[in-house]
Amino acid sequence: MRAIPFDLVIIGTGAGGGTMAQALAGSGARILVVERGEFVPTEDQNWSPEAVWRDMRYRTTERWLDECGNPFVPYMHYGVGGNTKFWGSVLYRLRREDFQQMAHADGDSPAWPIDYETLAPYYDRAEHLYQVHGGVGDDPTEPPRGPFPHAAIPHARGMAAIVDQLRAQGLHPSPLPLGLLDPGAPGGCILCNTCNSFPCKLQAKSDAEVCGVRAALRHPNVVLWTGALAQRLLTGAGGTRVQAAEIVRHGEVVRVEAPLFVVSCGAVNSAALLLRSASDAHPNGLANSSGLVGRRYMAHLATMMQGFHPFRVNDTVFQKTVAINDFYLSGPGRPYPLGQIQSQGRTHGVMAQVVGDTMVAGIPRWAYDWWVARGVDWLVMSEDLPRNDNRVTVEPDGRIRLSYTANNLAAHQQLVTEATRILRRLGFWKVMAHSHRSKNTTHQCGTLVFGTDSRSSVLDPYCRAHDIENLFVVDASFFPSSAAVNPGLTIAAQALRVADHITTELR
Ligand SMILES: Cc1cc2nc3c(=O)[nH]c(=O)nc-3n(C[C@H](O)[C@H](O)[C@H](O)COP(=O)(O)OP(=O)(O)OC[C@H]3O[C@@H](n4cnc5c(N)ncnc54)[C@H](O)[C@@H]3O)c2cc1C
Ligand code: SF4
Repeated sequence: MRAIPFDLVIIGTGAGGGTMAQALAGSGARILVVERGEFVPTEDQNWSPEAVWRDMRYRTTERWLDECGNPFVPYMHYGVGGNTKFWGSVLYRLRREDFQQMAHADGDSPAWPIDYETLAPYYDRAEHLYQVHGGVGDDPTEPPRGPFPHAAIPHARGMAAIVDQLRAQGLHPSPLPLGLLDPGAPGGCILCNTCNSFPCKLQAKSDAEVCGVRAALRHPNVVLWTGALAQRLLTGAGGTRVQAAEIVRHGEVVRVEAPLFVVSCGAVNSAALLLRSASDAHPNGLANSSGLVGRRYMAHLATMMQGFHPFRVNDTVFQKTVAINDFYLSGPGRPYPLGQIQSQGRTHGVMAQVVGDTMVAGIPRWAYDWWVARGVDWLVMSEDLPRNDNRVTVEPDGRIRLSYTANNLAAHQQLVTEATRILRRLGFWKVMAHSHRSKNTTHQCGTLVFGTDSRSSVLDPYCRAHDIENLFVVDASFFPSSAAVNPGLTIAAQALRVADHITTELR
């Protein structure tokens, strides 16, 4: 095994790792960025619904086991930029209340060890880095903040009419904050209908490759290894420091040494990496004196909804511009939070035809195309609560097992019911709802919770492992609660905060 020294190793290039690489690139430290996947190629298939949804061209083929031991293909992408290459780029700040303990229908959502004000300056920086477009003043749950770096994307004609009708219903629709590069400008985003779940063929989506990794690689001190899978972290004598990472690259096992390691493999894979790194000094997995590594997995309760009208063809191309946060903190008629409703990118016929990872047979494609051409798409999202039994474990043969039983379902169902009412009032004849249930891993978080007490958390408030002095984790695994807005901007903001902290160690 060859040993290669660096000052810092970052494992994973998604929202956490890609942002971290960009933030530390200017430090002059010799940084190795390790990514198991390759660059997503720029090609016509980027925007092909058939390639992306029927052929699953960019998804992992890896299979995980569920709580019953049944295999399933997680909705995950391994490549430079991680899942951000496929995200909808809806880049929300958590609400101020999300940082505090909050009573939900199904129990309490715990407080974070930092408050909104601590993260606010890093949200500002993350919004600049990811070029977020948005508008202040309409969202009843908006935390204290200044203006967005870029003005909100205007609603298309059809969505503008819907927004007016939502206001007439007494609701407070607000612009969705979106990370898009130069929309409308030459070479910029063209506001197309293949954004959410598709990679951007123009590289005009604010993702962690474009805004993070590429910017980092302009610095000669940053090296990226693709096709490089971290399989174990090895501690030295005493077991309090990571000495090396064992990386499988081009079929060769390489031992990479550094004084500092930042893990950012995504909430499931980071937990799995620490569990696979069990040793005599750490028999239950690395950094696991609390017993919490892999536990408290959360992923949001999410239902896709569509309002359908047989005589109204939906001519909107770029649809995801509006959110309804009226029920985020309570109600209607309920003292507890229900969650968020946001408009979604357009559904394509083939997307409607795919359920889980299989195509529905028997109904012709034209029927799906006809149907989705007359639909307006929404995402209804609620918070799921951390439970110790919802967890990632690693089987003796190395496979990941994800055991998850959804909770807070009643609140989510109330939100779906409320969304149905709203859509019916908008004049849609039929409202359809579809949930990926427990197999939706897109918003995975919480498996390495951060906190001040090493008995009840894995990471400290700067995302350093309590047990391992030179190990940080900056992906979504640090979340103590899942909140009910998209997680990406919070991951990026905390990565910037941790990067500032690490900079002092590199000096
Ligand atoms: C279709 C889709 C739409 C989404 N839309 C939104 C949205 O609009 N807004 C939002 O905020 N969020 C959205 N999300 C969620 C968002 O993408 C994730 O929350 C975010 O990417 C998580 O960042 P991360 O750093 O935790 O992990 P990831 O982005 O998953 O990055 C993890 C990285 O680690 C690499 N890796 C994993 N294991 C190893 C290993 N052992 N060795 C080396 N490398 C490894 C992976 O290949 C990957 O590059 C969406 C997700 C999907 C899939
Ligand atoms: S052009 Fe704009 S809307 Fe289309 S995929 Fe790229 S970033 Fe998304």
